[in-house]
Amino acid sequence: MTPAKRKITILSGDGIGPEVVESALEIIKATGVAVEFEKCEAGARAFQKGIVTGIPKETIESIERTHVVLKGPLETPIGYGSRSANVTLRTLFETYGNIRPVRELPGVQTAFTGRKLDIVIVRENIEDLYAGIEYMQTPGVAEGLKLISREGCEKIVKLAFAFAIAEERKRVHCATKSNIMKLTEGLLQHTFEEFAPQYPSVEAKHILIDNCAHQLAMRPEQFDVIVTTNMNGDILSDLTSGLTGGLGFAPSANIGNDVSIFEAVHGSAPDIAGKNKANPTALILSAAMMLRHIGEGKAANDVEQAVLVTLESGLRTSDMMGVQNPASTTDFTRTVILNLGKRSKLSPPREYRKVELPPAQLGVNVVPAKKRRVTGVDVYVETELEPKALAASIEKLTKSSPLSLQMITNRGAMVFPSSDRRVSLVDHFRCRFVPRDSGSDLADADILALLTTIGGKYRWMHIEKLQEFDGQPAFSKSQL
Ligand code: NAP
Repeated sequence: MTPAKRKITILSGDGIGPEVVESALEIIKATGVAVEFEKCEAGARAFQKGIVTGIPKETIESIERTHVVLKGPLETPIGYGSRSANVTLRTLFETYGNIRPVRELPGVQTAFTGRKLDIVIVRENIEDLYAGIEYMQTPGVAEGLKLISREGCEKIVKLAFAFAIAEERKRVHCATKSNIMKLTEGLLQHTFEEFAPQYPSVEAKHILIDNCAHQLAMRPEQFDVIVTTNMNGDILSDLTSGLTGGLGFAPSANIGNDVSIFEAVHGSAPDIAGKNKANPTALILSAAMMLRHIGEGKAANDVEQAVLVTLESGLRTSDMMGVQNPASTTDFTRTVILNLGKRSKLSPPREYRKVELPPAQLGVNVVPAKKRRVTGVDVYVETELEPKALAASIEKLTKSSPLSLQMITNRGAMVFPSSDRRVSLVDHFRCRFVPRDSGSDLADADILALLTTIGGKYRWMHIEKLQEFDGQPAFSKSQL
């Protein structure tokens, strides 16, 4: 009996997606691996049909069956869905880690040619500002929530080290902006520093994200694996793809415990869609990552090697530096197929071991605190009053409340009680209240009474409790 073929969900995507996906599928078929493609819809066409997520039910069912997706880029057309179909897919199937490798490729001329770059960005994929939790707090002030969890940090840190070990890599940098965002970005840094000693064979270093970008432009060869938060990783991985030839060469894998999604880093490049000139390398290399993921290591090596041999032979697509007579997408694909089975002279196949993913955690993840206390509350109000006048009015309103006004900030800068600060003001003030009896644990009833009092005179749009966990303040101080 012939063994059952491994099923893979295929999303051709938008723009150049169908061209580059078709290229990868032809190459996979030519390797002879026993796979079967379930072609499904997602993205622009789904949005146009009124599917608000851009992901039809049949597509979700296919992914639930196959657990593996090879996808082209998806657009989020303006005026249709409110959220990116890519973000929805990643969130829906909790592909929490995005692995984005780049390396110097033979025949691909860049400013860094000869420096043997070989860098992997491991990007947290579902949290951070990309959760897309946003509010207009006043008609002129927008807010986006940057949610970072200890659970998300632990998973991505463990994935980065597991990946480094599987590929026998020597160093993992953790890149954050923890000097400014001490609680959110700081959580990734602290989690990284806590778990790094469990991987003694890998050197662990923290680096600030802005310096990381600078170092990547100046001395990129110092980097091996970089683990970072979602938005930082999105930006840095476009940068690293630029170091090694551009978006046309950068593959990626969205890894989850149940489902993994393989795609190019690039988008739908509408300017070159339908012209048979897109570089399919990124999607082909993503397909190789997928083949390795499903246990088809030989086919993965064959595909990667055929791409390298093709590039070594001097074949160029239109996006490559100094190209005279560019090969079309279909020419490039045909040549890769002809080169299947050949080995690169400059870059032989590597040894890969399975990446040992951190086990999935069931239920609600909790970081326990032995002691906790509410030490105050921030109330955000909308007003056109100047800070002094606002403070006087609020102090008068709340004079019989157990809470007193401690300070007022405007876009994070203190404007009361310090009054000599010159900031341009917007109609969005954070008023911080603390109990008059400083040691007490603030009750919800006191906060609700305070809101009723303030709400009688001002529009308030947001409150935030100031908490203390095990004696440590769990909120940021104001910037003076
Ligand atoms: P993009 O599609 O990545 O394209 C940026 C530019 O890079 C293109 O205009 C093209 O430059 C070049 N390029 C990208 N891929 C190429 C390839 N394979 N071959 C040759 N050249 C390539 O970025 P964008 O224009 O910012 O985004 C367009 C759409 O894609 C947006 O709707 C965005 O939301 C979506 N997007 C989707 C994903 C995803 O599905 N994962 C990721 C990113 C963006 P030239 O001008 O030199 O031709």
